[in-house]
Amino acid sequence: MNSIKKWLAGLPGLLVIAFCASVVAQNVEVSPKAREIHDSAIVIDTHADTPQRFIDENFDIGSVTPVSEGNIDLQKAQEGNLGAEFFSIWVAPDIYKGRFVKRTFDLIDAVYEQAARHPDQMMMAFSAEDIVEARSGRQKKLATLMGIEGGHSLEGDIRLLRDYYRLGVRYMTLTWSNTNEIGDSSGDLDKKEVKHHNGLTPFGKQVVLEMNRLGMMVDISHVADKTFWDTLAVTKAPVIASHSSARALSHAARNMTDDMLRAVAKNGGVVDVNFYSGFVDDKFRQAEQAQKPARDKAIAAALQARRDKGLPVNYMDEDRIQREWITKIPHPPLSALIDQIDHVAKVAGIDHVGLGSDFDGVSGALPAGMDSVADLPKITQGLIDRGYTPEQIEKILGGNVLRVFREVERVSRQMRGQP
Ligand SMILES: [Zn+2]
Repeated sequence: MNSIKKWLAGLPGLLVIAFCASVVAQNVEVSPKAREIHDSAIVIDTHADTPQRFIDENFDIGSVTPVSEGNIDLQKAQEGNLGAEFFSIWVAPDIYKGRFVKRTFDLIDAVYEQAARHPDQMMMAFSAEDIVEARSGRQKKLATLMGIEGGHSLEGDIRLLRDYYRLGVRYMTLTWSNTNEIGDSSGDLDKKEVKHHNGLTPFGKQVVLEMNRLGMMVDISHVADKTFWDTLAVTKAPVIASHSSARALSHAARNMTDDMLRAVAKNGGVVDVNFYSGFVDDKFRQAEQAQKPARDKAIAAALQARRDKGLPVNYMDEDRIQREWITKIPHPPLSALIDQIDHVAKVAGIDHVGLGSDFDGVSGALPAGMDSVADLPKITQGLIDRGYTPEQIEKILGGNVLRVFREVERVSRQMRGQP
């Protein structure tokens, strides 16, 4: 700090003001009051892509990661009082074509192996009560859960849905960016070569109802608008959007319109805001879109070069190049993320908003100062600054997700004819 002061003393006044303003913008001071509210809450994040790292980089969650490489490790989770993480079981469709099920099982195995390696700090969790249990007692553990991102992991077979449930998977995102047997995705509606279904398919309806019966949360992030509306008409339990932001603030096709936000509220579900800069802030989204053709070309060339050398290609290879390009675009301020949470809270209501970071899945494109799970208390501070009460903040941090999880479990018991 002293060296910074000395350095500042040698600069002209206006420059000093500009420098200080940018430092303040990056570093949100978390007050003792915010810290207390944050630490007394059960903080739940419903989406992180860390399992790719477990396998492809042999990453141990017990090691400490520089934020330039990863957003989650156990030390950072503790610093940010992260109570529960839904690790994403996401199978890259282009890389694992013909091997979706195998990769799904590998990712599930990787999550279990991490939890087994750190039994003092992690606990596999399969219910809302498990999350509460992991956070009680003297040694608070990270409740470790799994959600499958993309129904292509079923390969059109509903029996696999039950197998995944038995292995502990507690939500499934009906589609990722690719349209599948369940329904249309928002990610490829413009691709003529893709066979679309006009929303949810008959098989998709069967899957949604089977998820309701099993007690697996139905996740509508990523789906096309028509699939969303079809799903809400079919489901008997509240849905989640595990990592989706508001389209009113950033016009991404996979963000949710205000009508969709209100519909999730009516359904009793929860929308967990995605932290990715392009979904949070429209200026970033436009810059990212403008850069996309050149970036995609560079990525394709680099991956092809690896293949030509006979080297394997995985998501992390793609991610590294993506990061180099993305860092050239200025990050939105942290306040843009708070704007998103505030918008969903105002439109859907305070009982229908949560957090779905998408950490480790956005190539470092995060709002300034939100570099890892250790920065989560800054959200609590941001909400206090906007007049949210401790009770409201507790709902946003995880209370709403817990309520929805319990309700999904209740509907399941009812459908199975159990008391
Ligand atoms: Zn996603």
